[in-house]
Amino acid sequence: MKVAVCSAKPYDRQFLEAANLNIGHELAFFDLPLCEETQKMVEGFPAVCIFVNDTLNADVLRILFSQGTRLIALRCAGFNNVDIQAAVDLGLHVVRVPAYSPHSVAEHCVGLMLALNRRLCQAYNRVRSGNFELQGLLGFELRGKTVGIIGTGRIGTAVVQILHGFGCRLIAYDPQHSSECIRLGVEYVPLEKLYADSDIITVHCPLNQKTHHLIGRAAIMRMKQGIMLINTSRGAVIDTQAVIEGLKSSKIGYLGLDVYEQEGDLFFQDLSDQVIQDDVFLRLLTFPNVLITGHQGFFTVDALSSIAQTTLQNISTFERDGICRNEVTPALLRMS
Ligand code: NAD
Repeated sequence: MKVAVCSAKPYDRQFLEAANLNIGHELAFFDLPLCEETQKMVEGFPAVCIFVNDTLNADVLRILFSQGTRLIALRCAGFNNVDIQAAVDLGLHVVRVPAYSPHSVAEHCVGLMLALNRRLCQAYNRVRSGNFELQGLLGFELRGKTVGIIGTGRIGTAVVQILHGFGCRLIAYDPQHSSECIRLGVEYVPLEKLYADSDIITVHCPLNQKTHHLIGRAAIMRMKQGIMLINTSRGAVIDTQAVIEGLKSSKIGYLGLDVYEQEGDLFFQDLSDQVIQDDVFLRLLTFPNVLITGHQGFFTVDALSSIAQTTLQNISTFERDGICRNEVTPALLRMS
């Protein structure tokens, strides 16, 4: 099948071309993201392959359909950047990679916790400049601390598996309870109790209407003083302005982000020689107790190989059968 791969980085090309050797799709790589301004570039491609910051609203989907596209293949699990109902109404099929090594994101999440707690970034800089002073680097043991996990799907469960080994007390909120998490001693509690009891809160639910700004002023108010907050899910699950207020008042003692509400204008590109215009993001960077990575939780050899294989298999299955078990349906949309 002719596939337009959008937002294609050198590593996307490397892993997709390797996975395609025995499959033989006709892949064309475009480094630009797919959106209203660039929709023309994929004219005539029956399949377009996109990533987290390609924005496919109803208008873009209508144009894609009129240009001959019939399949949208997401190289990720989340699908908040595609208007699924509009796609279904048009007769466009959307497929995704529901699971590709959740451990990649889970390990990155725990890496953020450890780096923040033991102030590894500050320590790295100090030692390199010959400063071996420990004052200001004081950490705490994770053992015995209460960690609240919001969303215990694939990634949340992998986080539970790791933190179980650290000896943490684990509590969680998720409308669906995971038997693996219960087996590992997780206690499911209402959100209010999770906010009140946790020393660390980590977010692993999808972004949808119910979870948009889930962590806002009201939620932060209920948290412990000095809470460590980690978000590796989607940026807009957290209200960034509310979090900045929480940091200024020291209610939030540590913040680890791999995702950011307005990341589409920033992440996955080198802006080091430009003036960044996003003042909210720049404010976040001024806090010594904030650690931000640019949506790299998924970025491991294991995950990229798995993403490439599943993406191409999804396209092959759709081409052969006209259906695919990894299709994003309105039923899945309602459940998420
Ligand atoms: P998943 O579908 O396996 O799990 C999501 C869980 O969230 C489910 O158990 C669901 O019941 C639960 N949930 C839904 N609504 C909820 C709510 N209101 N409150 C609490 N829980 C709720 O998804 P996953 O594979 O574990 O991924 C989780 C999220 O991580 C994805 O949606 C995606 O946004 C993000 N993600 C980030 C990266 C990265 O590189 N940082 C990579 C992959 C995925």
